[in-house]
Amino acid sequence: MNLVTVKTFDSYFSANIILTKLHAEGIECYLKDEYTVTLDPILSNAIGGIKLVVKVADEIGVRKLLENYELDYINAATCPKCSNNNFTYITKPGATNYLTAMFTWIFSSYAVAPYYVYHCENCGYECERLPEKFEEEQID
Ligand SMILES: [Zn+2]
Repeated sequence: MNLVTVKTFDSYFSANIILTKLHAEGIECYLKDEYTVTLDPILSNAIGGIKLVVKVADEIGVRKLLENYELDYINAATCPKCSNNNFTYITKPGATNYLTAMFTWIFSSYAVAPYYVYHCENCGYECERLPEKFEEEQID
């Protein structure tokens, strides 16, 4: 059986949520390196995270389902500033300027990597994790 990786995860929570959704659709899929990353999260970058693998024959259908899950997730979020539902997922540069990048490199020897944020197209609000409905209810 030929398997192909369709998505990688840093956390076993999000990996298992997607795995459960795909199992509910009747798709045979597995998580690779789940226990290694869970036991030692520092290894996650070295081994490429937790991998969601499916049969090659299911790859196109699964990628379409994953796109739909992401769209459902984004469309369900409401901006806490303007109450709009118009988030996009964008890339931001890792360091704000060359001086910050140089200090980061000198003192911590990390490569300056880009990071991803959800950006409200209406008001410009940005967050790493989308606000959820139950969080709004707790604030009130
Ligand atoms: Zn907004």
